[in-house]
Amino acid sequence: MLNGKTAVITGSTSGIGLGVAEELAKQGCNIVLNSFTDTDADHALAARIASDHGIQAAYISADMSDGEACAALIEKAADRFDRAVDILVNNAGIQFVAPVDEFPVEKWDAIIAINMTSNFHTIRAAVPGMKAAGWGRIVNIASAHGLTASPYKSAYVTAKHGVLGLTKTVALELAEQGVTCNAVCPGYVLTPLVEKQIPEQMAAHKMSRDDVVRNVMLQRQPTRDFVSIEQVGQTTAFLCSDAASQITGTSISVDGGWTAL
Ligand code: NAD
Repeated sequence: MLNGKTAVITGSTSGIGLGVAEELAKQGCNIVLNSFTDTDADHALAARIASDHGIQAAYISADMSDGEACAALIEKAADRFDRAVDILVNNAGIQFVAPVDEFPVEKWDAIIAINMTSNFHTIRAAVPGMKAAGWGRIVNIASAHGLTASPYKSAYVTAKHGVLGLTKTVALELAEQGVTCNAVCPGYVLTPLVEKQIPEQMAAHKMSRDDVVRNVMLQRQPTRDFVSIEQVGQTTAFLCSDAASQITGTSISVDGGWTAL
């Protein structure tokens, strides 16, 4: 059903974004990968996905902290595959942790811009094409921190709560136009970045890998197991399917029970 559709995934050179891109490529979408760099490795990654899945893929550089660059990404993606963007996955995100009274202002601004405001800019640019086509899927990768808070993450928690508000509003505005807008709220996902932290935490706490994972990292995740990148990718692909055409304006938690606590 997704054959030949164009999917743009922001922040998709690693982690969850790359996993979402792989899953949508598997479903037959043509893929636009994005990050703020523009290296041979970025373009090689797009070529690898295209050849693995027998689809077309392109890498388009755009810095999600810049509103004009967000809009240009959508325009360039439409030009590249000669059709309006059908699927938009807002995934780019960064993190910084500090007490609120010591939180660097530039870090606050960057997190709000990349994790939240970029979603507005890409959605704003993509919606006219989706409306004209009478079909569209917008999936915002939020977080368990869109529904709950943790200390020292004021900017991240604020941005992710904002994304859920935007998700609901856009869904209502587009409800009769064949366009859905939803969020996915992952708990702790085993990305390469998280994997790297495990030996560091083992050394810091003088604990075994299992103890670090269970009692330090996944203390708030009742299953005591990481969410996988594939699980977030497959949940996103489900939200893009026909089965999900009546699911709009909501969020799906993939968090091992975190937000049930
Ligand atoms: P990651 O660091 O592996 O990937 C982030 C991606 O965003 C990278 O491709 C990076 O290049 C890109 N990016 C960063 N700044 C950018 C910018 N200014 N412009 C364009 N691209 C930019 O992180 P991840 O863990 O895969 O996180 C992806 C999303 O999932 C984020 O929105 C994050 O908040 C969310 N999330 C992650 C977890 C987790 O446990 N890893 C949990 C919940 C939600």
